[in-house]
Order: sequence, then structure tokens, then C-alpha cells
Amino acid sequence: MTDKDAATISYRLLLIDDDEVDIMTFERALKKTDLKYSLDICNDAAETLSAIERNTYDCIFLDYQLPGVDGLQLLMKMRVLNVNTPVAVMTSQGDEKIAVEMIKNGAFDYFNKYDINPDKISKVVITAIRLWDSERQRALAEKKIVENNNRLNAILESTRNLIYAFDKKLNLISFNSSFKENIEHLLKINELVKIDVNLEDLPLGEVRKKSLISNIEHCLKGEQFTVLEQVSFSNTDTELPWYETTFNPIFNSVGEVTGVAIYSQDVTENKKFEHELLQAKNDAIAAAQTKSEFLSNMSHEIRTPMNAIIGLTGLLLEEKFEGTTLENIKSIKYSADNLLVIINDILDFSKIEAGKVTFEKIDFDLRLRMTELRKTFEHRTQEKGLAFVIEIEDRIPAVIKGDPYRLNQILFNLVGNAIKFTSEGFIKVSVKIVDNTNGNISLEFDVRDSGIGIPESQQSKIFESFTQANTDTTRKYGGTGLGLAITKNLIQLQGGDIKIKSKVGEGTSFIATIPFNTSNVTSLDNTKDQESELADLSSLVILLVEDNIMNQFVAKQFFKKWNNELVIANHGAEAITILRERDDIDLVLMDLQMPEMSGFQAAEIIRAENSVVKNSDVPIIALSADAFLETRRRVLDAGMNDYVTKPFKPEELYQKIVKYTQKESQLS
Ligand code: ADP
Repeated sequence: MTDKDAATISYRLLLIDDDEVDIMTFERALKKTDLKYSLDICNDAAETLSAIERNTYDCIFLDYQLPGVDGLQLLMKMRVLNVNTPVAVMTSQGDEKIAVEMIKNGAFDYFNKYDINPDKISKVVITAIRLWDSERQRALAEKKIVENNNRLNAILESTRNLIYAFDKKLNLISFNSSFKENIEHLLKINELVKIDVNLEDLPLGEVRKKSLISNIEHCLKGEQFTVLEQVSFSNTDTELPWYETTFNPIFNSVGEVTGVAIYSQDVTENKKFEHELLQAKNDAIAAAQTKSEFLSNMSHEIRTPMNAIIGLTGLLLEEKFEGTTLENIKSIKYSADNLLVIINDILDFSKIEAGKVTFEKIDFDLRLRMTELRKTFEHRTQEKGLAFVIEIEDRIPAVIKGDPYRLNQILFNLVGNAIKFTSEGFIKVSVKIVDNTNGNISLEFDVRDSGIGIPESQQSKIFESFTQANTDTTRKYGGTGLGLAITKNLIQLQGGDIKIKSKVGEGTSFIATIPFNTSNVTSLDNTKDQESELADLSSLVILLVEDNIMNQFVAKQFFKKWNNELVIANHGAEAITILRERDDIDLVLMDLQMPEMSGFQAAEIIRAENSVVKNSDVPIIALSADAFLETRRRVLDAGMNDYVTKPFKPEELYQKIVKYTQKESQLS
């Protein structure tokens, strides 16, 4: 408080005096000061006690001599009543001793009544106010410290975690009850943890003590850090608990480290949980892996007999059967084809789940692909009496770059579904450009039908795996509910998307947008494939490397039809032996997975630099059980020329044989 403040604030003053002359003198002197004030006057002890009970004064002037009571007694009464207002004692001549006694008992000043003048009174009031102020501030600060302490204590006590602190000499300076209880419980000793006990005197195990001391010493350098450790409190602990402990330096007001505060949390349960979670995750990954491998192996195993069934029924269909026999053979073929689709779906799905799908980026003729699509489904649409329309926007270039096999798979699935779920009307496939910039060309394939439609509530679900729109779908139409999940994945993995528009009873439209690249090639030569239909294979010698007797049998049936010589090897090693002896083999058909020596190994030996075989350039076509890019790459990497997927389509195999043997004869 400044003197200026003192002049502007109004003070509440109390004069305790019974002498009228003294009172008048006091009042006159007070009036002449610069102070703003209000003054109460009490003539005796009773009046005084009632006034101080009702009012709070900034300064009290107390005459020592009052009727019936002396000033000292009154002062002490005030203090008992907790009235701490500064009191100045007014004495008469010769009362100095008494004045000293009063000051000892809490009065802050005294002056002689004959000294009353404006200047004196001003000074006393201002000194009183200053005293009062600092007294009030001290009391306030004290209160704040107590409150703060209570708050901090409440925080310390609000946790089950351990909080404690040591000074530089490793004396315990603070701790919460969790710490005390925990340590005393662990060590089975009471009243051990108390302020000022030295860390060295705490009967913790030597290892624990050493690690604590080393961490505290490190922290005393001013660095905060956290350690995760298994803590042994005594040497007899069996299962050690895990603690996460933070060491925090304590700084004084000038920034020096005076101690270390430690916060320690028992994380044994979390650790256990973390461990269990990790275990569960690893188990889940292993299970998924096993499932994926199992599906892949199963599909592979099922394909081999399928190869025989489809191949042989195909051959039977070319014989002259009639009536029920022909119908039965057709049914076998139809069921086998369906079964193959399901197996392929499962294989694809497991590959997608395992993130193993890759995409080709090759030039292809979209219109040719669409012609193949028409050829594949024409028969089925005709059988059901459905119109089948394919519309391709003229602006679409003859050649684009992308994965034609995946495009086939997507469209075959959508068109297959459209036919399956439509009993009258039409199927229409339209292709148009939606974007053509900077070498990217996005095409929209709209596959529409006039079939049963899909209820709105089911439209978002049908893309989920194993989901069908209606519960009776399986009974009526069959299917696994995997087709659309695979289709959507194959589209999205290429950066495209698929949408659906459908109305129950009116039809469905699947709109797939797939990004491709434009190509520098303006046309592809497709003529060879057509020419090959006329080619004669009868003069060729073909080596079939295949371990499965059934597959050997099926192949023999086809080759019998094509009139050429077929040499058979049961595995890679046998093939090498034959090729070392004979130079008249025109082409090798190589199965991939065989005992003794795989197709990959055999091909590598044939193509090796100083090859042991007579003709190391002999064309090799792989017979692969899956159509995945990964396998195709490995086939080409091993030096083979091409691949045909099993069960092979006779026309495809035929055309490939022609392609490589004609090229061969042109070269020689
Ligand atoms: P599914 O093998 O059962 O055909 P999909 O994933 O291909 O499996 O299709 C899932 C479901 O979506 C089908 O069972 C059918 O209920 C519905 N669905 C798909 N395409 C059509 C369509 N063109 N018309 C009507 N419903 C369809």
C-alpha cells in the first residue's frame, strides 16, 4: 500500500476513551489529517466489546485508563475474541512501562495523549494499515499453502499407484499411503516407512535397492525418464511383478535439483493382458494362414480329378450318344463346370484374404474379350430364351493395357449371375469411357438384366462374402455367395469401384468402373488363333510330363483325337532322361507339382546354359493348376514359354500347341 492509497481509501477507526477533552482533541487532530475515515467512539469495555463484535476496524486507539478495566485486560479480551486489528495504546505521562507491557501483548504502537496531533495520528493509522495488510496477506498465504497441501495430498492419496520422493541424500521426504502400505505389506514389517528414513535403511532386496539408487542418481542430473522393469522386493519373490516407474527431478526456486519424485505403477496385469493379446493375435494369424493354405491345397487337390471329369465328359459329348444318355452326360458336364467355378472362387477368395493377388499390365483387345464373353454365354442365354446384347462405345481404342484375365473373371461373374437370376427378357452389357486423361482410361461396364432384382435392404450386403440376397437363393439357384465379394475385391484392388441399381421384379444393373491405361499399340494380331483351328498336329511328337494317372489318361484321349504321338514322363527327372536321348520331341507339356522333380526344376535344367538335353530350345507349355499371376511369372522365369490352366480347355491347349510348333517350324 502506498501513501497515495492511504489518502484515497476510507478507514474505519475506533477510539476507546472516556475523557471528553481527550476525545475532542483526538477528533480535531484527526479532522486535520488527509485521511478519509469514519470514527466510532466507545467509552468503556462493554461498549468496545459490542462494537468490535459488530464491526471490523482498520485501527483501534486504546486509552490505557478506562473505567473498571485497564487497557491491557481489554486488549487481551480482544485477542481472545480473535480480533486482530492493530491496536495503538494512548498513555499518560509516566505510563511507559505499561505501554511496553501492552506491546508485548500485541499492541503495535503507543503514544502520549499530550502528543496527539494530525501528523502523529496519520502516521499511526498508515502504519497500522500496512501492518494489518501484511498480516492479512500472511494469513492468506498460509491458508493457501494449507489448501494447496491438502489438494496435493488428496491427489497423492487418490491413486493406488506408489508416489514417493527422496532428497539428494536418499532420505525419504514424501510418500503416499499406497507406497507405505505396499512396501510394508510386501516386506511384512509395520511402521517402517516414515519421513527421513534413508533408502539404505529400507530393507529392500539388494538388487532393488541398487537399481533404485542408480535411477535416482541418474535423475538427480535433471532428467525425467520412465523405466519398465520386473521388480524384486525381496530375495524370495517367485513371480515378479512388472512396474512402470517414472523418475522426476524436483527443482528448487533457482532451478537446482534437490530431490527425485517417483511414480510407480504395477502393470503386471496389463503385461499379462498384452501377452495374451499377442498370443491371440499370433494364433489368429496362424489359423488364418492354415485356413488359407488348407483352402488353397484343397482346391488344388480337387482340381486334379476335376480335370479328368471335365475332360472325359467333354470327350464323351463328342461321341454319338443320344436321348437320356446324352442328357446324363450333359448334366455331368454342367455340374462339373459349376463345381469348378466354386473351387476357383474359394481359391481366389483365399488368395484375396492372404493379400496375394497381383495384376497383369498387358496390351489386350477389349472387343475380342467381349466376343469371347458372348461366345461363352450365348448358348446359355439361348437356352433360357433371353436376348443377349453387348454394346461397346466406338471411342474405346482397339488396344488397352491392363489385366484381361481379371476383367474376364469380373464380367463372367456378373453376366453369369445376370443369366442365373433372369428367367425372361434380356441381358445387356454396355461399355463406355468415363475418363480418358494422361494415359489413363477408365471404363464403365454396365451389366443389366430384367431378372428377379435385389431388395434394397440387401443391396449393400450382397458384396459381403458368403452372402446371398434371399435365404432361399441357395435352394433355388445354388451358389456360394462368394462371387460378388471376389468381384468387388478384384475391382477395388485395381482402383475401381462397383455399384448396384436394382428393383425387385424389374431387374438389376451392376455398374463397374475399372481403370486401365492407354496403349501405344494400335492393333493386336489375332489371326494366328483363327488359323490354328485348321492346323494338323498329326506329325508332332509331344512329351507330356504328368504324375497323375487320370490326367495322363485324359490327355491321351485328346491326343488320340489329334492323331499325334504322345510320349509320357511321370515326373521331371524322367522327362530329362527322355530329352537327353531323343531329339524328335516337338513340344513339352509340363505339369508343375510332381514328386522327385517339379516342372520348374525340370524346365530350368532343360534351359540351362550347357544343357544336358538334346534340344534345349524345345517349347514348353506349363500345365498349371491355378491361374495366378504369381504362378505364371514363376513359369516364365523358369524358362517355359506359356501356360495352360487345368482342367484345360481342349481348344485352348490345341491353339497353344499350334502356336509354338508352327513358330518352331518357321524358325528351323
Ligand atoms: P452366388 O454364388 O450366391 O451367386 P454372388 O456373390 O455372386 O454369390 O451373389 C450374391 C447374391 O447376390 C446372390 O445369391 C443373389 O441373391 C444376389 N444377386 C447377384 N446378382 C444378382 C442379379 N443379377 N440379380 C438378382 N440377384 C443377384
